[in-house]
Amino acid sequence: MEMKICTNCVMDTTDSKIVFDEKGVCDHCNDFYKNVLPNWHTDERGAADLNKIVAKIKDSGRGKEFDCILGMSGGVDSSYLLHLAATQLGLKPLVFHVDAGWNSEIAVNNIQVMVDKLGLDLFTEVINWEEMKDLQLAFFKSGVPHIDLPQDHAFIATLYNFANKYKIKYILNGGNISTECVRNPMAWLYYGTDMAQIMDIVGRFGTIKLKSYPFSSILRHKLYLRYFKGIQVVKPLNYMPYIKKYAAKLLTETYGWKPYPQKHFESRFTKFYEGYWLPERFGFDTRKVQFSSLILTSQMCRNDALERLKKPAYDPETIVDEFNYIATKLGITAKKLREYFTMEKKFYWDYANRKTMFVIGAKVLKFLGLERSIKR
Ligand SMILES: [Zn+2]
Repeated sequence: MEMKICTNCVMDTTDSKIVFDEKGVCDHCNDFYKNVLPNWHTDERGAADLNKIVAKIKDSGRGKEFDCILGMSGGVDSSYLLHLAATQLGLKPLVFHVDAGWNSEIAVNNIQVMVDKLGLDLFTEVINWEEMKDLQLAFFKSGVPHIDLPQDHAFIATLYNFANKYKIKYILNGGNISTECVRNPMAWLYYGTDMAQIMDIVGRFGTIKLKSYPFSSILRHKLYLRYFKGIQVVKPLNYMPYIKKYAAKLLTETYGWKPYPQKHFESRFTKFYEGYWLPERFGFDTRKVQFSSLILTSQMCRNDALERLKKPAYDPETIVDEFNYIATKLGITAKKLREYFTMEKKFYWDYANRKTMFVIGAKVLKFLGLERSIKR
């Protein structure tokens, strides 16, 4: 099939469901201009909206140790959000971090310097490594692209577990339109909370019982915790101008925080996965999604993005070492990992899934105005 690329961003036909209009502009761009941009207010209106929300958060935490919860990966979005919450918004966040065994040194350092300087406690949830390893291997054996799901899922489940345990009503989320307005296509990164899919893959390829790994189904956290326990997600970065470059600079100057070469590279596994595995095995390059988001929000020019995409996201000089490191850490040989790399490609539809329910749920949220853009 001939490769076709959007004339406005850098998304292309490696996203098999991409649709172009008569000017060659893709549906990611058109969705942004039509649905997201008109409803996105980073001026006084956004500030006023955020003030109202912050007042409610403070109310909910009066007399309590915490009024909101914030998960730190050490990446720029969550780090900047923590800076904002603690120093500008006057909130009392419970800061937690999930250690799934793959933290890079930079990530650990970034989290520590910020928490120290802000005088906050850090709650760390360490995932049982034997279980984590088995779950990750199950995903490798399944042949699907979304092998980072075990890390993502543990993060989401831990978040809701903490919120529930400490009776915290507000979740601060670093997710933002500014750097993430283009979403990863569903075929690239499937939903991390589809328990039907997880259980099917665990059932077929898992070898040990997952006794302590944290699970949370979407029904539990989007319905039960949201509507019966009243836990809400707030994304403060959407109510103000958020420019990634400036955020990173401020963090570096204020905390001694260190930047990463690429989004999500705070985890050594994710670095390998998004930088090497996904583009080389499947042809899915998540930089296209990240750069396109930055192009749409005027933080990058298209030519720079095209230029950077000419080089691989991984370092060819060190990739062999990295490949061996990942294999060793997972307790398998490099040869075995290579077999998973070359095995038949599978996708979410090859296993049990509740995609229909997720899509309907997303459409309802969009209809209610709670969600602007839909993963597809
Ligand atoms: Zn586009």
